[in-house]
Amino acid sequence: MNGKLILNQLSQYQPGKQIEDVKKEYNLSHIVKLASNENPFGYSSKVEEQLMGMKHSFNVYPDGYTTNLRASLAKKLHVMDNQLIFGSGSDEIVQMLCRAYLYPGVNTIMATPTFPQYRHNALVEGAVVTEIPTVNGYHDLEAMLHAIDSETKIIWLCSPNNPTGSIIPKDALYDFLNRCPKHVLVVLDEAYYEYIDQELDPEAINLITKHPNLIVLRTFSKAYGLAGLRVGYGVSNENTISNLNVVRGPFNTTSLTQQAAIIALEDQEFIQNSIKKNKEIKQDLQHYLDELGWNYYDSQTNFLLISTPISGDDTFQYLLERGFIVRSGEGLGCPNTIRLTIGSEDDMEQIKTLLGKLHKETSKEI
Ligand SMILES: *Cc1c(COP(=O)(O)O)cnc(C)c1O
Repeated sequence: MNGKLILNQLSQYQPGKQIEDVKKEYNLSHIVKLASNENPFGYSSKVEEQLMGMKHSFNVYPDGYTTNLRASLAKKLHVMDNQLIFGSGSDEIVQMLCRAYLYPGVNTIMATPTFPQYRHNALVEGAVVTEIPTVNGYHDLEAMLHAIDSETKIIWLCSPNNPTGSIIPKDALYDFLNRCPKHVLVVLDEAYYEYIDQELDPEAINLITKHPNLIVLRTFSKAYGLAGLRVGYGVSNENTISNLNVVRGPFNTTSLTQQAAIIALEDQEFIQNSIKKNKEIKQDLQHYLDELGWNYYDSQTNFLLISTPISGDDTFQYLLERGFIVRSGEGLGCPNTIRLTIGSEDDMEQIKTLLGKLHKETSKEI
């Protein structure tokens, strides 16, 4: 039996290298993974402390309405319970959005490069994908607006953008929302929201009342450090949420995950501390790259997209053999770059040394 025709043209997600495999292959005792923008400082210590003391009933299905986490989050964000949807990571919400709104004959617009799951899921649903190149890593909002037609169903804004790290300026976002036709659902993916400098925060959730065609996606996977538990959420108008609930699996977040997220949400000190350290370590790395004369994109996140003197794949390999797993930009649509997650202070000191060595070796060749 054949599946949809498009399945022959798409392939499964290629996971980053696994630490144990790399250790064996290159005979290394210590490996640092800086490839998936996870929080190098882990997650709130309260999560494990409190989960240990709780009574768990793993034989029983989870609360499919995510009642308690929903209430905590609604209170924190000042929205109504029915304006929230939860997913097994915001990845699953991307999938739900495509399933609910896209089908053959309609189209969807996104930046390139951007988060690859938008394109992938849109193609699975048979929609036409229009990709608008970024300019210095920033969304070209004018060109995106220009690409809209009567069959456009979803427009994806990733801000800050993965893999470039750049944020859509507030005023540009407001202007975009004012001009975007109401028949187009605007998905604003803020997976790196917590890392945004306060003065650049568009406070997008406050825009939901004025713009019923806006949905904001956020996640517990990045700053909150709970990538392994899989939980993300969307905030929107209650009608959009209601549409998404039709395609949502009934028990799509686990009971353990729901409990962990509530605890993590309460420990804002951990988040503030992670953000502060990320910023300091990122600035230090940027100064070092400036000294080397290497370019990098503006970043409001916990990663940097860095231009490399040799190909992204070769830089990846150079670092891999020396104990660091990063993302080559080649596969992300960014030739001669790597995407590097900001790690701990120690990890970054070592990475700086390696980048310095690579710089020397490659300058000699010229
Ligand atoms: C990491 C990431 C996500 C997905 O996170 P989940 O773990 O599925 O919540 C979504 N969008 C962007 C831009 C990301 O970088």
